Amino acid sequence: MMGALNYDILIQGGGPVGLACAAWCLQKYPEAQLLLLDRNPVDDADLASADTRGIALSHGSKLLLDTIDAWPSECADIHRVHVSQAGRFGRAFMTREELKQDALGHIVRYRDIHLALRQALRAIQVELNQSRSRFLWLHIDSNVEPLDITAKCIVHAEGGLFKKQDWVESGRDYDQSALVGLIEVENAAPHQAWERFTAEGPLAVLPSHYGANILNLVWCGSPESSQQRLNLGDADFLAALQQKFGSRLGRFLKIQDRRLYPLGLNYRKEITHGNEVWIGNAAQTLHPVAGQGLNLGLRDAYLLSEILAETFSNAAVEQTPSRLETTLAKYAKSRKADRTTTIGLTDFMARVFTSNLLPIVIGRGLALSALQWLPPVKTALARQMMFGRR
Ligand SMILES: Cc1cc2nc3c(=O)[nH]c(=O)nc-3n(C[C@H](O)[C@H](O)[C@H](O)COP(=O)(O)OP(=O)(O)OC[C@H]3O[C@@H](n4cnc5c(N)ncnc54)[C@H](O)[C@@H]3O)c2cc1C
Repeated sequence: MMGALNYDILIQGGGPVGLACAAWCLQKYPEAQLLLLDRNPVDDADLASADTRGIALSHGSKLLLDTIDAWPSECADIHRVHVSQAGRFGRAFMTREELKQDALGHIVRYRDIHLALRQALRAIQVELNQSRSRFLWLHIDSNVEPLDITAKCIVHAEGGLFKKQDWVESGRDYDQSALVGLIEVENAAPHQAWERFTAEGPLAVLPSHYGANILNLVWCGSPESSQQRLNLGDADFLAALQQKFGSRLGRFLKIQDRRLYPLGLNYRKEITHGNEVWIGNAAQTLHPVAGQGLNLGLRDAYLLSEILAETFSNAAVEQTPSRLETTLAKYAKSRKADRTTTIGLTDFMARVFTSNLLPIVIGRGLALSALQWLPPVKTALARQMMFGRR
């Protein structure tokens, strides 16, 4: 039986965002009195077959994760992105040279980011001055009785997927699911990502670290047709995919590890309340069309850790509830522009690129053409995707 636990900071949720927030808090303030509640198993081996979907991380996220040595060793860089709409005019092509970057983004598996962050946090834990450290990383079972915990600040990083969360606030059900998997093709250009807008939703084919011809698939469609595609035999599935994507990658040869995710937008208008603050998917759950959810969540975690470290390392000031409420309100204000832009842009893309209304079809063809022919617009959009709004 555990006695009452008293901490300055309680982080609830050991997904990528909660882990990153804990690691940055401790890196910036090693004496932090911090409790991390994690529902995942203690042993990394028990996560081995976990979520393998490919996630696009921006260069900005890589720079953030590098600060805590949490960049996964297995990743694929994107050097070019080709955006088009199936059966309609309009396309845009973006290269790393135009944007003067080493890469436009990086594809890593969710599992690998998760494991890299667990290892990074463990390494920080080992380095902490054991006699002064007040960091506890507690793995809990969802079935155990609630623990007796008091904390001056509660950080919610419970994340979750759309429709699987126990809260719904503002947002939109796009009536779509994403079918993800690994595909093998005949003839892929290395480091090239494809995003193709179909009548049912975006279809993305992204590089993977397994080699040039093994690619990550994210195929968004109605929940019914996505479920049917999940159930198809491999040959029928590959034929359907080939028909949707066309022949730019040669023949589609193999599919493995198909998984389905419900998609929608669910976000909190207020991300703080009293001494509580919400970050990552617990604050906003986005459609993956623009690959922004985790990137935004990592920026939440980083900026919150800066504020918390600064607040609690200042021993001269007692952190009363009202003082902390003011501090968190300041954090919420500082996140407003980035959140609003990222949520708005993602929602706009998710809606506009699936509409079949003729004026919208023409408009998005023109928009893609404009992107192609107006380099400053393209650069501004790419910068927002890579670094967020600062
Ligand atoms: C198909 C798909 C593709 C995506 N592609 C991209 C992409 O390309 N780029 C991108 O940036 N984002 C992408 N995302 C979004 C990205 O996956 C999420 O934004 C990211 O996982 C959020 O991380 P998180 O830590 O906030 O939440 P999660 O990843 O959901 O982790 C939350 C953790 O908290 C734990 N937990 C839950 N409740 C509790 C509790 N009460 N106590 C303790 N622990 C708890 C859970 O077990 C879990 O481990 C995609 C999402 C989907 C569905």
